[in-house]
Amino acid sequence: MGYDVGRFQGDVDEDLLCPICSGVLEEPVQAPHCEHAFCNACITQWFNQQQTCPVDRSVVTLAHLRPVPRIMRNMLSKLQIMCDNAVFGCTTVVRLDQLASHLNDCEHNPKRPVTCEQGCGLEMPKDELPNHNCVKHLRTVVKQQQAKIAELEKASAEQKHQLAEQVTEAV
Ligand SMILES: [Zn+2]
Ligand SMILES: [Zn+2]
Ligand SMILES: [Zn+2]
Ligand SMILES: [Zn+2]
Repeated sequence: MGYDVGRFQGDVDEDLLCPICSGVLEEPVQAPHCEHAFCNACITQWFNQQQTCPVDRSVVTLAHLRPVPRIMRNMLSKLQIMCDNAVFGCTTVVRLDQLASHLNDCEHNPKRPVTCEQGCGLEMPKDELPNHNCVKHLRTVVKQQQAKIAELEKASAEQKHQLAEQVTEAV
């Protein structure tokens, strides 16, 4: 699936749009003769239905597809796109070829791991932090450890019992 045209600053050249999803081309490939370009994911899905070019219906198969020319890739990588996390308050606009690296350390990414600084030091996705309660978390940790201790005590009691039986038999 391509990128939503609305996320780009300024006009996007029509040649950079995918005819299947009408978004801006993502991982574009092109048909060999008509040179129509599509998102890799879009055309792969389309070929499940029919092995033709979706624009002019000429026969094309997956094996015929090739990468788009360098000039087209350059045009795409220079487009200015808004961050995926704009809805979460990120105002960053980056070149398309910088988007992935920005997303990696975008502080508005709701799934970015953050560490609780209220005391327990637990690491969790940022969007879970508002519902996080250190005391509750620590209580579950304590409960789990108590259960573990109880298990260990049981195991050790059983071993002692077995040992005692062996000693009795030996006598
Ligand atoms: Zn597409
Ligand atoms: Zn075509
Ligand atoms: Zn961002
Ligand atoms: Zn905490």
